[in-house]
Amino acid sequence: MTILWAETALTPEGWRDGVRIEIAAGRILSVTCGTEAEGERHPILLPAPVNLHSHAFQRAMAGLTERRGPDPKDSFWTWRGLMYRFLDHLTPDDVEAIAALVQVEMLEAGYAAVAEFHYLHNAPNGAPYADPAEMSARIVTAAADTGIGLTLLPVFYQYGGCDRRPLGPGQMRFFNTPDSFSVLHAAAARAVATLPGDARIGIAPHSLRAVDPEGLAAVLPLVPDGPVHIHVAEQVAEVEEVLAHRGARPVRWLLDNAAVDERWCLIHATQMEPTETEAMARSGAVAGLCPITESNLGDGIFDGRRFLEAGGAFGVGSDSNVRIALAEELRTLEYSQRLRDRARAVLAEQKRSTGRVLFEGAAKGGAQAAGRAAGGIAPGLWADLVALDGGAVDLEGRRGDVILDSYIFAGDDRMVSDVWSAGRHVVRDGRHVSRDRIAARYRETLARLRARL
Ligand SMILES: [Zn+2]
Repeated sequence: MTILWAETALTPEGWRDGVRIEIAAGRILSVTCGTEAEGERHPILLPAPVNLHSHAFQRAMAGLTERRGPDPKDSFWTWRGLMYRFLDHLTPDDVEAIAALVQVEMLEAGYAAVAEFHYLHNAPNGAPYADPAEMSARIVTAAADTGIGLTLLPVFYQYGGCDRRPLGPGQMRFFNTPDSFSVLHAAAARAVATLPGDARIGIAPHSLRAVDPEGLAAVLPLVPDGPVHIHVAEQVAEVEEVLAHRGARPVRWLLDNAAVDERWCLIHATQMEPTETEAMARSGAVAGLCPITESNLGDGIFDGRRFLEAGGAFGVGSDSNVRIALAEELRTLEYSQRLRDRARAVLAEQKRSTGRVLFEGAAKGGAQAAGRAAGGIAPGLWADLVALDGGAVDLEGRRGDVILDSYIFAGDDRMVSDVWSAGRHVVRDGRHVSRDRIAARYRETLARLRARL
């Protein structure tokens, strides 16, 4: 058994001082407040959120797509073309090396777990590997190495658009039929079962562009308890395409045609009418927001205030992994609302500051989206914890919600000192315990990729 002790900690009942946390078999056994210091001591302990949306391999493109191309208006769609050309070169070894670095960076940023929306399944020529879950198994191997909590979401991807056009050359690595996908999913589940008990498998129908209504109905029974993740309403062109072919905007269509509930996570949801926003909040589904990537790709701004006022659950994800930064993800979410509304503290409540609403919401919603018993410092939950450096200039002497406001708005992930994922103490003094080895392998992989591209 491990005992952690915090001068102050954020519990489901609010901020408490002198908090003693007992951990056994990866779970929090007990939480006692107002105690004298003992065990391993930390100034500030928080529940560590889940990163609810990642495409690990895209990390290797970070910083390489910021030039204007021949298209007079560079857009999400030109970026996607570049991304497709890039992934044509990736081998299973490359994907494992990239995923391991990504997971190290996520843990160092303060995330305890990741929901990996994994769609790179086939060999470059589009044929399945001998083990159809070869690529999924590489994500699992990376997670076993880094100690991150993994919710693997194998992606089902059928078509190149709502008109059921076949996939283009750059998309053949994603392709499955419902039958081939169920074989792949079973093999991926066997790989996930080799990880510690906090790992989960879910499912991700890619989007309403890539999956038709029959395909969606065919694959959902593979994971009756969820989690189910889907990209939805990220881009205006996507909304128009779904409206033209399915007769409703994507979020509206999903709510009317699928049993969307708290097992679901709707990724992006940036393009919604107010009635869709309110209906989605009432459905219990988590809004999977990726404010840094959405800014980078020019997706649009989530209607956060309306969604939260309607009782909606949300979490954050690093999506394209152009930058993996938890505090910045939360800050960007709030700043996008401020810039649109020309207001301050848009997501704050009377009794909870902006930082508290953002952090607590992301911890709770992220855990829900990953199907992970976590998101709070409470008995029975996985010990997903993050410690902040109480000696940082902007944290010293601060108490209560101001800690989170200072960390998110004045600070950054350099304030993260330690992270535990289901009790695995993988970040110490701000560094992942295997950072050097995993970063060296990533550098070698990138050098090989540069030579191949
Ligand atoms: Zn995505």
